[in-house]
Amino acid sequence: MPATILIIEDEPAILELLSVNLRHAGYAIRTAQDTRQAQDQIRDVLPDLILLDWMLPDQPGIRLAKQLRTATRTREIPLIMLTARGAEQDKVDGLEAGADDYLTKPFSVRELLARIKSLLRRRAPQLTPDPIQAGGLILDPEARRVSCAGQDLPMGPSEFRLLHFLITHPQRVYSRSQLLDQVWGDHVFLEERTVDVHIRRLRKALTPAGQENRIETVRGAGYRFSGAPS
Ligand code: CA
Repeated sequence: MPATILIIEDEPAILELLSVNLRHAGYAIRTAQDTRQAQDQIRDVLPDLILLDWMLPDQPGIRLAKQLRTATRTREIPLIMLTARGAEQDKVDGLEAGADDYLTKPFSVRELLARIKSLLRRRAPQLTPDPIQAGGLILDPEARRVSCAGQDLPMGPSEFRLLHFLITHPQRVYSRSQLLDQVWGDHVFLEERTVDVHIRRLRKALTPAGQENRIETVRGAGYRFSGAPS
């Protein structure tokens, strides 16, 4: 699943340049030209990362950044601010408003792509193609393969995505509803017990390698992957 990036930028030439290049880099792109359109887009699909211009026609991007950081649904979205301003104070304001990173125009597309990649790696590693190793398990997103000591562990696409999320967020407990949001998408209406079904299938897929106990049930809370990535 490619990461979805929402670009919020009112200058058509820059919006076009960013859309073309990011799409070419393999991302799914959504666009907005002011903060109202951006809110509509976010209501529709929660993006995996946001590029936010500082100067927008309806209200400053920085105000939207603050709004996104106070709402539960959008609090965690990785956010890069784009701006023509280079003043130190603006940079500080941007970061204080909740931006994870900050780029001053004009910037090179290569630098932007590198920043996006590094931010996703830091904040949403399950969306990057990097292979992950945890304990004896190796998960390779590009090959869509899980193995342990050379042994293939076949599993369905939902189990794969579930394992990919859990393995990139080890030692943390996720509730069923958090897992639904993260693995199935926040606009998919499924019952929470769907998660239990897929956890059961995932454990079964890991059983031939004796790795099923890595997926722990935390009573009254949810599930946790044990074993630090190496
Ligand atoms: Ca602008």
